[in-house]
Amino acid sequence: MTQRFTERVALVTGAAGGIGAATATRLATEGATVVALDRDLAAAQRVADEVRAAGGTASAVAADVSQKADVDRAVAEVVDRHGRIDVLVNNAGITRDDLLFRMGEDDWDAVIDVNLKSVFLCTQAVQKHMVKAGSGAVVSLSSRSARGNRGQANYAAAKAGIIGLTATMALELGPFGIRVNAVAPGYIATDMTRATARRQGLDPDDLERTTAERTPLRRVGQPEDVASVVTFLASDDARHVTGQTVAIDGGLR
Ligand code: NAP
Repeated sequence: MTQRFTERVALVTGAAGGIGAATATRLATEGATVVALDRDLAAAQRVADEVRAAGGTASAVAADVSQKADVDRAVAEVVDRHGRIDVLVNNAGITRDDLLFRMGEDDWDAVIDVNLKSVFLCTQAVQKHMVKAGSGAVVSLSSRSARGNRGQANYAAAKAGIIGLTATMALELGPFGIRVNAVAPGYIATDMTRATARRQGLDPDDLERTTAERTPLRRVGQPEDVASVVTFLASDDARHVTGQTVAIDGGLR
């Protein structure tokens, strides 16, 4: 595979599973030194071990991305370890779905903090190292739900917030050689979507099948489908692309 990330350090949040693990793996396959960040160190470690077993370079770090002190400590740890951060993938996310009239304040706060505030905290902590280096790329995970999704007022607001935050950070950081983009996946087959199906009383396999039937490309996305676009946006192949949110949804709007 092309080695677009040789001698580059990539920090991927929420890297213990799903899209984050696939992205960490893809970046490592293309030569990046990857740091897998997750709140569960052992789980992040397992992904780093798998990357190393496949011949890549990876290590793990623990942090709760919604906590500033934790994020600052983890970013400092990565810079101590590798001297730089060239790529930041803001991938960690959670859902706490409920209809608006029932949604608790705790569920609102948790989803906004883990999905949106984390992008602010992680990018703020990492950008000062990128500014010093005069280059860098940030890619964050928005979602098709940003356009509105029943039962996801908190998640839709957070993911829509990422689109505005991305556009603004691109304006502010562009002059320092830092590109900031986002992706907006539709249905991607991961633990998150399987858990959502079960919460709605649906069989995850049935939901995948009916979603695929409604999708113009007649399939649901896989974590690797997102990883490849994130990796493109993080690479020099996207050197004139910034402030964008790219849909990865098989054409289902
Ligand atoms: P996932 O399988 O649930 O993976 C998310 C990872 O983030 C998990 O390892 C999770 O750890 C970790 N995480 C959660 N809260 C954290 C925190 N406070 N600090 C650090 N790590 C934390 O989800 P996914 O489906 O791969 O989704 C990845 C991203 O893509 C999310 O931002 C999601 O919103 C977005 N997205 C997903 C889809 C989809 O269809 N799957 C569609 C659009 C957008 P735990 O397992 O311990 O919670």
